Amino acid sequence: MRKEISVIGGGIAGLSSAVFLANKGFRVILIEASPKFGGRVYSFFDKASGLQIDNGQHILASWYKNTFDYLKLIGTFDKLSFQKQLEVVFADEKGSRYSLKASKLPPPLHLAGGIMGYKALGLSDKMAIVRLVNKIKKNKYSESELKSLNTDKLFDLSSQTEKAINYFWKPFIIAVFNAEPENTSAYMFANMIRMGFIEKGGSELVLPNGFLSDIFVEPAIEYLRRHEAEIILNKSIKGFKFNNNTLSSLILEDNTEIKTDFYVSAVPFFNFKTLLGESYYKYFSRLNELHSSPIVNIHLKFDKDITGIFTTGFFGLLGTSSQWVFKVAKDQVCVVISAAEKIAEKTKEEIAILAEKELKTCIPELKEFKVTSARVIKEMRATFVPDKDSLNKRPAAKTAVTNLFLAGDWTDTGLPATIEGAAKSGNIAANEILKLI
Ligand SMILES: Cc1cc2nc3c(=O)[nH]c(=O)nc-3n(C[C@H](O)[C@H](O)[C@H](O)COP(=O)(O)OP(=O)(O)OC[C@H]3O[C@@H](n4cnc5c(N)ncnc54)[C@H](O)[C@@H]3O)c2cc1C
Repeated sequence: MRKEISVIGGGIAGLSSAVFLANKGFRVILIEASPKFGGRVYSFFDKASGLQIDNGQHILASWYKNTFDYLKLIGTFDKLSFQKQLEVVFADEKGSRYSLKASKLPPPLHLAGGIMGYKALGLSDKMAIVRLVNKIKKNKYSESELKSLNTDKLFDLSSQTEKAINYFWKPFIIAVFNAEPENTSAYMFANMIRMGFIEKGGSELVLPNGFLSDIFVEPAIEYLRRHEAEIILNKSIKGFKFNNNTLSSLILEDNTEIKTDFYVSAVPFFNFKTLLGESYYKYFSRLNELHSSPIVNIHLKFDKDITGIFTTGFFGLLGTSSQWVFKVAKDQVCVVISAAEKIAEKTKEEIAILAEKELKTCIPELKEFKVTSARVIKEMRATFVPDKDSLNKRPAAKTAVTNLFLAGDWTDTGLPATIEGAAKSGNIAANEILKLI
């Protein structure tokens, strides 16, 4: 008999665990509360601006192994564009350009070569960066020391210069962690340096070559349907029924019950509490101490083709609230502001004006282009804040309830809240279940 599994939540964590388990022969029931799959990864047509848009530009990296496995299964791995070497062109508020391009040498020398050629920095800034990467590579900081610090303190300890922080570290930290260095665990930061800068084949950026739903979401639903999954959309699970240490059923909002052999909860941490009920939530009560950080995306459409300006596809922006800008179509860009607590307090109109102004300051060639429509998306609970205190609040996939497993970018994957964190959590939950049969 085929084993049955219920997966609650149709974000990347839920979809990946469902796909990995369907691939192993499980009969899957996928339940999603909202009217669309994808969770925090989705695309839609915005009638007001006339734009097809993603909720937010997503950047991947060449170390996203679990994500690639997931995309290979659902058949869209070829919809990713891989850089050959890490290459970012930065534009600053004075209109200057600086290219950061890794060399062809083996890691970490490839990066050292890139940093040496990065003209935004002076020699002492560059030496400070190389010194810190080397110390991490040689394990000069102990695990317990790194776990006790946020990254701003690690920068103090390793004498990072202001320029090294603002013109090199911050753009990457904010992009990867959606948090400032003072809200980013030094332990997670050091792991990221190892994966992204020190290990072979980890540092290149990877961009989706198309809209998010077409790459990450709809093909997964088709895959599940081909594997005879039952797909329940627009209905939320309102609670769990326990029988001692096992989960006996899920209760849907219309009070119908779903009974399967195993259950994966892949809902965000702030939704998990309501599913469990008070008596079981006490085992996870530290989740109350996780916090969320917003990301704001500004989609701008121009009156003319901008392709000639965006020859590398995107720019990092320095010295402005806007941090990145990506060309999405020949006349359309997406401006990204992460760790956006302050900016998110502004109105959408104010944010659109600010983004356009900053964009035209950093990339003066855009001044002759007119913005014909704008759409601002504020994702207030985009990711959890990965500070040092978050480390011991993230639960493992395996729980005290024998047939209930957790997935989600907030579970203990060792990674920040990313597509890869979500896909890895789905993979871990699936593997924990496979161990039991
Ligand atoms: C604007 C933005 C930009 C980002 N940029 C990047 C990036 O550049 N690179 C990167 O790697 N990552 C990025 N991320 C992070 C990434 O999108 C997330 O980490 C990932 O999508 C989280 O997936 P998840 O499945 O864990 O959670 P979610 O996507 O939140 O999915 C959870 C699902 O559970 C459903 N649910 C909740 N309660 C119930 C219930 N009771 N019953 C049934 N269903 C329920 C929800 O509706 C939701 O669909 C970004 C996120 C945002 C918002």
